[in-house]
Amino acid sequence: MSLNSKIEWTDATWNPVRGCTKITAGCKNCYAYTFAERFRGVPGHPYEQGFDIRLVLDKLEEPLKWRKPKKVFVNSMSDLFHPDVPDDYIIKVAEVMARADRHIFQVLTKRADRMASLLRGSLEFAAKKQHIWWGVSVENKKHGVPRIEFLRQSNAEVKFLSIEPLLENLGEVDLTSIDWVIVGGESGPGARPLKKEWVLSLRDQCEGARIPFFFKQWGGTRKSKAGRELDGRTYDEYPEVNAIRSR
Ligand code: SF4
Repeated sequence: MSLNSKIEWTDATWNPVRGCTKITAGCKNCYAYTFAERFRGVPGHPYEQGFDIRLVLDKLEEPLKWRKPKKVFVNSMSDLFHPDVPDDYIIKVAEVMARADRHIFQVLTKRADRMASLLRGSLEFAAKKQHIWWGVSVENKKHGVPRIEFLRQSNAEVKFLSIEPLLENLGEVDLTSIDWVIVGGESGPGARPLKKEWVLSLRDQCEGARIPFFFKQWGGTRKSKAGRELDGRTYDEYPEVNAIRSR
């Protein structure tokens, strides 16, 4: 957990699961993998087991103890819908989110098919909660864009896309019923390039569809120098919570 996350679009992170396995192109330089493996074998460290997936039961109820409302990124160091996380445990995580309704939860996955099928089934009680936002990662046309359709077919009331790391021009994207779009480039050693025209295309599509647009970063090997301005300004838009509540 981190109460003051450095991730630009959230306030805090909550990791009731740790670890994951790489599945698609967007995972190649996974920050969580690099971080976790650095501490493999360090006795007593939260990542003593590196990036091996495990449930963290003593973190399960953590958001219930946070009095001040905040935006909480769920599993910044894992993927809640990884096949090794049992349905029962995912339901427990969702029950905590449902109870801690002073916060906004941001759940992001690359396992969009499993998320969509659970949101239509045993997670239906959480799918319609306006303070739980369900999102998919989109890095390219081959792996990322199909996840959008799974998300659309879920029961989620609030749906978002994290288009990061953006690896190619996605062209025209069907943004029907999407409530929020985050775009960003890859950062760190070996970061793959991001072209301005790819970002502008997505920004223009969001503006045309009146979807809040958040530009997270250009990325690269010197992320702070590259910054996060696009055409001379920052884009820090979020879904309008009051508008969601009045639906
Ligand atoms: S799904 Fe996410 S957490 Fe898992 S390996 Fe890929 S980038 Fe890392």
